[in-house]
Amino acid sequence: MLRFLTHSRMARLLIALGASCLAQYAHATTSDDAPAQRPDASAKPADLKQIAGRWYVHMGEKTTYYYNDAGHFVDLFSYHARDSNKDGVANVRIRHDSRFLLVDSQGYPNHPTAVFPNSKNPNRIRVQDFHFRFPLEPVRNTEVTRVPMGPIGMALNGVVFFNPFEAGGMNAIEGYSEVWLDSCCGHPQQTGIYHYHKFPSCLKTPFPDEGRGHSPIIGFAFDGFPVHGPYESSGAMARDLKDEHALDVCNGHADPARGYHYHVTPGRFPYLIGGYAGVPEPSNNRMITRMPAGAITNNAEGESRMGQAIRAVTPGSVERGRTHAIRITLDPRSAPRGTPAWVQIGPFEARKIERKGDVVLAEIAVSRDAALGVMLDAHLEFDGAQPNRAAVIKRNGVLRVVDSGATVLRQSAGAKEDRNGGR
Ligand SMILES: [Zn+2]
Ligand SMILES: [Zn+2]
Repeated sequence: MLRFLTHSRMARLLIALGASCLAQYAHATTSDDAPAQRPDASAKPADLKQIAGRWYVHMGEKTTYYYNDAGHFVDLFSYHARDSNKDGVANVRIRHDSRFLLVDSQGYPNHPTAVFPNSKNPNRIRVQDFHFRFPLEPVRNTEVTRVPMGPIGMALNGVVFFNPFEAGGMNAIEGYSEVWLDSCCGHPQQTGIYHYHKFPSCLKTPFPDEGRGHSPIIGFAFDGFPVHGPYESSGAMARDLKDEHALDVCNGHADPARGYHYHVTPGRFPYLIGGYAGVPEPSNNRMITRMPAGAITNNAEGESRMGQAIRAVTPGSVERGRTHAIRITLDPRSAPRGTPAWVQIGPFEARKIERKGDVVLAEIAVSRDAALGVMLDAHLEFDGAQPNRAAVIKRNGVLRVVDSGATVLRQSAGAKEDRNGGR
């Protein structure tokens, strides 16, 4: 928070708006700077009681829900249940009945975000009052149900997933219709719902994704099936599977250890889920009952111009647990003038920002538990012509986190470069 307050524009905003309004006007940044205290996902806790399906509960001083993910009993929600926006209400609250995991969510990001509204988005992020019901025992359907507009599922932090289309019906992620998502892959719509259209690279999971095995769970679709990160096995993304395990039109597949599950597919439509393979719970989004059968199809056309204000970002990879000076070369014809007020790459906020000519130097500290291999987007904010309306630019897929071992590997064996994936 201290670092946050030293930020000059933020300090001005604080003075202008008062701290109580901060959540609505400023970066939805939180006090999560400290490394997450995460439970040991491999240990099976004592006194676990099975509720139904893969869900378990531990009743103690506080009730903790566990999910059996391929034999690992994972406490998916404790980290995210904190009150990160300091309004006296936990981000997510979990209960259950005989059929459903019942989730009350504020839908509010517990990672840094861009400032909203900004030059690319007139909406602000607002705290929500979501009540979702996830089937404890998901049931495969005989046909695929199309994913509606609005929420289609939920990330572990309570922020919702949307399908890949914006209000006009066009692809929001690729082509000329690409919309401005911040470096955490989210943005708010008209009623202030911050949402992800693609893999939320800033989301913390109960264990970090090393890219060396099957990715952990990052959320759930409204049919109750889990959504996993991008990796199927060491260095191999699920999107690239070609054999009988290839993802179906919904972005899902089944294996004996996990049953049916979805994967996110960075850089490849439908990015999150392409349809419900299971029976979706209609109370989560009333559009569900009106949806026709069948998966969504890609309608991206032409070239995106979203990244044109940033020519290059170097170096392209950074090591965990270290501070790095990142060099961002701007396009002088389309980038705003002046020194950016804020630079963020994935979840990492720049501590120091300088501009020399067309080059911005940004110092970022990469946390020790950062997810490995995932390509991160960058966004920059400049004081805009209008008050509270920063001029924002971005570029996708500019940086990935490696560990020092991986760097050595890449230097000594170029052919292994792809082990960390990428887009
Ligand atoms: Zn959107
Ligand atoms: Zn899988």
